Amino acid sequence: MDKKIGVYICSGCGIGEALDIDALAEVATSEYSIPICKNHPALCGKEGSALIEGDMKKEGVNTVVIAGCSPREKTEVFSYDPTAIPMERVNLREHVIWCHPPNDEDTQMLAEDYMRMGLVKAGKMEPLEPFSEEIDRTVLVVGGGITGITSALDAAKAGSDVVLVEKEQELGGWMAKLWKEYPKTPPYTDIQETGIDSMVKEVKSNTKIKVYTGAKIEKTEGAPGMFDVTISQNGSSDTVRVGAIVEAAGWQPYDATKLEHLGFGISPNVVTNVMVEEMASNGKFARPSDGKEAKSVVFIQCAGSRDKDHLPYCSSYCCLTSLKQAKYIRDHDSDAKVYIIYKDMRTLGQNEIFYKKVQEDDGIFLTKGEVVSVSEDPGNNLVIDVDNTLLGEKIQVNAEMVVLATGMVPSVGIEVEGATVEEPEEGAEEKKEEEEAGPTDIIIPSDTLNLTYRQGPELPALKYGFPDSHYICFPYETRRTGIYAAGCGRQPMDSAACIDDAAGATLKAIQCVELTSQGKALHPRSWDMSYPDLYMSRCTQCKRCTEECPFGMYNEDEKGNPLPNPTRCRRCGICMGSCPERIISFKDYSVDIIGSMVKAIEVPDEDEEKPRVVAFLCENDAYPSMDIVGRKRISYNPYIRVIPLRCLGNVNLVWVADALSKGIDGILLIGCKYGDDYQCHYIKGSELANYRLEKVKETLDRLVLESERVRVLELSIDEYDKLPGIFDDFMETIEEVGPNPYKGF
Ligand code: SF4
Ligand code: SF4
Repeated sequence: MDKKIGVYICSGCGIGEALDIDALAEVATSEYSIPICKNHPALCGKEGSALIEGDMKKEGVNTVVIAGCSPREKTEVFSYDPTAIPMERVNLREHVIWCHPPNDEDTQMLAEDYMRMGLVKAGKMEPLEPFSEEIDRTVLVVGGGITGITSALDAAKAGSDVVLVEKEQELGGWMAKLWKEYPKTPPYTDIQETGIDSMVKEVKSNTKIKVYTGAKIEKTEGAPGMFDVTISQNGSSDTVRVGAIVEAAGWQPYDATKLEHLGFGISPNVVTNVMVEEMASNGKFARPSDGKEAKSVVFIQCAGSRDKDHLPYCSSYCCLTSLKQAKYIRDHDSDAKVYIIYKDMRTLGQNEIFYKKVQEDDGIFLTKGEVVSVSEDPGNNLVIDVDNTLLGEKIQVNAEMVVLATGMVPSVGIEVEGATVEEPEEGAEEKKEEEEAGPTDIIIPSDTLNLTYRQGPELPALKYGFPDSHYICFPYETRRTGIYAAGCGRQPMDSAACIDDAAGATLKAIQCVELTSQGKALHPRSWDMSYPDLYMSRCTQCKRCTEECPFGMYNEDEKGNPLPNPTRCRRCGICMGSCPERIISFKDYSVDIIGSMVKAIEVPDEDEEKPRVVAFLCENDAYPSMDIVGRKRISYNPYIRVIPLRCLGNVNLVWVADALSKGIDGILLIGCKYGDDYQCHYIKGSELANYRLEKVKETLDRLVLESERVRVLELSIDEYDKLPGIFDDFMETIEEVGPNPYKGF
């Protein structure tokens, strides 16, 4: 494309009073020979927009540089078709005049450097060509429990065709096995019918939903918008094409045979909460040893939950289930006595109303305590020793039956990364233990989707075995684009939460097929039409891209060549940073573009005593944090030059080498937090950057160049106020280290 760049400088919001606009325009017109460079007191107003659009029509401007407010502001005004008009925005307001003194030499130099970087980038950006393929809008729902059924119904109501696959012969899942539910509707005081039967009927009669029961997914090939799913049922198999997948494969109860210390397997009269539902359905709470109705029943809460040796987490449904089952027993036999021994009674929201109602029952005794032992006497009765009760005393309770409130283990097929045992530090508080201890032996079924992805057949998960992509920002996302986890396979929850979860994940699935059909990315780079382009003739089959893409975008041929599946891509650019040959680029973002921006920074001579630092900031948390700093008018060192990156995982070491050889004194990289509680929007980008930069530092040390010149930090957006201190601290280090010896060469 023949480029015609138009540069538009906004002098509003105080920019015109703080900066020499003519000098800034000179950078464009003289240094970069840009023919069209105009300024306006309010580019975001009607007149300003008309000025730019007029130049597009009359002057043939086809690439736009807008120097004014942050690119995160006024996006509705400065919104041009990226397939025709590449646009770059130069942040003069938040990053220059709002946090640096007006009419100051250093402030002006900062603005001019940002202008140079913007011009270089605009000069190299190409119009985007969205990936286009025929997209199927069918939603596949895996699992026919409450979550899957809700998801199928929601998707069908929204107009999607649905394929629902359930491994059991009947739909309904665990809900169909419950006798009743704890209250889910006002006045939240009485146990109620589950309502699952009518939902199952609704699914079966909905012509938009094709149901496979007693079925298994043999294989899932392809990518969002074009998954080919092979389903086997009754000895035959069908292949269906779907656009997105809701993974609602549910949960399994924690294996009670591991709870011998609570009497399970030792006494037949120690049963689980799942077994009590069956008893309730049979109309008799018969203890297994002799079939007699149990007149005294002890419920032990958190049986194998919130326990570093079993499930370290809370399953959230078991407290209310025990309250409900206590009511079953009392409603069935008003002479029966029930005891509930809990670590904490967790009854959130309106559930508290039901808890209070149960407390009013004279036959139900609730106490906080730790169960020390469960033993059986010769008459098959049970003796429960409890310590640390609310009264601070040890107590002993005798019962005819004990019920263990066991927790949930996800049933979704997953690949567990780092599911290691982490011993909590000695003396660490209970909460910490709960958060940090890993499961010792969670059994992980890994046979749900059978993806034909190079990175493995199931969904990657973190230490607790739940599939995960970003626990704060993208709750239903898994690390496989277009596949959304919902319900108890995503995290422990009750049926009410499953219904909400199903709606959320279904909306995501619909959003996925809609955006994919337009060639657009989903979040976090929603609507981005760029995707990686590989210059394959220089590929060395090193496999770094296929290994490091957090979302499994690339398959691989037998020689090790990457085979892209663009609709799986989240446009993070991590593969771009990983490719040693630098052959992975986006039309508007590449190693060359960022490298050229670095090279565009003017580096003053050493005797001017104006050091220069380039700060690569992740666009997800660190860059917006800097905007907040600007909005709050907090000042910081003017020698920092910020370049936003899609993710810190994009960093190519050549940028560091280029910066240092140009005489830049320091390089700062700020990305999202990583580790188990990561906030990196692309899972591992900032972690990878840290790893790569450690290698750079080792090299610098070997070359007797000061490795202190390179620093990698993590920052979350709520820590924006730390940024000025981070900059000041780094500049102090740079002053101590002294000027870059390459300066001036
Ligand atoms: S840009 Fe990110 S999501 Fe896309 S292929 Fe590269 S590493 Fe994977
Ligand atoms: S990282 Fe680059 S060189 Fe290596 S396999 Fe991928 S594209 Fe080829």
